[in-house]
Amino acid sequence: MTIGEHEWKELYERMVEWRRHLHRHPELSFKETATAEMIAGLLETWGLEVQRGVAGTGVVARLRGELPGRTIALRADIDALPIQDEKDVSYASTVPGVMHACGHDGHTAQLLAVAYGYSRNRERTAGTRVFLFQPGEEVLPGGALGMIRDGALDGVDAIYGIHLWSPFPYGRIATRPGPFMASPDEFEIEIVGKGGHAGLPHQATDALVTGAHLVVALQTIVSRNVDPLTSAVVSVGQLQAGTARNVIAERCYLSGTVRTFTPESRTEVRERLEEVARHVCGMHGATYKLTYHEGYPPVVNDPREADRVLRVAGALHRGGPVEVCAPIMAGEDFSYYLRERPGCFFFVGAGAADGSSAPHHHPRFDLDERAMLDSARLLVGIADDAAADD
Ligand SMILES: [Zn+2]
Ligand SMILES: [Zn+2]
Repeated sequence: MTIGEHEWKELYERMVEWRRHLHRHPELSFKETATAEMIAGLLETWGLEVQRGVAGTGVVARLRGELPGRTIALRADIDALPIQDEKDVSYASTVPGVMHACGHDGHTAQLLAVAYGYSRNRERTAGTRVFLFQPGEEVLPGGALGMIRDGALDGVDAIYGIHLWSPFPYGRIATRPGPFMASPDEFEIEIVGKGGHAGLPHQATDALVTGAHLVVALQTIVSRNVDPLTSAVVSVGQLQAGTARNVIAERCYLSGTVRTFTPESRTEVRERLEEVARHVCGMHGATYKLTYHEGYPPVVNDPREADRVLRVAGALHRGGPVEVCAPIMAGEDFSYYLRERPGCFFFVGAGAADGSSAPHHHPRFDLDERAMLDSARLLVGIADDAAADD
């Protein structure tokens, strides 16, 4: 299916309109009711088979092309963040403390445009397209699992998703075969010793000293236990202990994050973290409670599908470089789809050329809206290419 230039021009105008409407009216994760209503309403108008209430507030739509071909899913996330919009633009958020600060409004608008484009070219479309408008990407456990549970991947042969990415300049397209985005786990450790007089340390168990040793010992997980050729991060972000200069701390609280790219290194780091905590606390005679919060699994692209994305983008995209990029330490629940089906997640540059754009999750985050047009063209090109496989 090819969409003509004049049609893309019209679709782009609509994308901008939809994106700005969503930007003015952001909704938090799993509360995207008006957003879902807008999406479902438009899709129904265009004659797609629409399923509402998927994973709570998600929408799934199917479009059957008139030519034979495979079933290809395309996914957008639709939720906003609890951030106060500080931008001075006509389309700034009208909801206090809520903002589309990750670009999911753009993801939604570009996927709507793709669905609209297909709906007008059904007779020239090979195979089926499944459009996933997923709620709750920003909060654990994420909306992807619920989408899968509610049948969003039924009959699907392959799935693709985009993140508009402001750290990359507009025009740049990038992805990576294999491990691409990290698994962002978090941990908390509460050490319990025995408080006492700072002048009588032999009668106490110092939770603060134990905690200090533990912070240092945790640094050896990445430097001494993880294969140097795999990437991993263990960062302690909080260390709290003590109430007064002359009091030995009874309790010490630590928290931090673990970022890994493969299931193996993820398990290895977690097990080692538990071991180090047990031994360091044991050595000091303190007890502890470790709480480990599993984030999303790592995003691991199917190598063949990543090659497809790079190939199709290389042929289709004339606005800038198409590249294999380094892995990224952020997380994404698109990983759950990739555990179920072959597919690829990739980035479309939506930032300023000089790198001055505000990062994602920043109160002044914004997008170069032209990137939505790049995305929509790529999604159609990739889906058509994939639908033609045997
Ligand atoms: Zn985000
Ligand atoms: Zn995001």
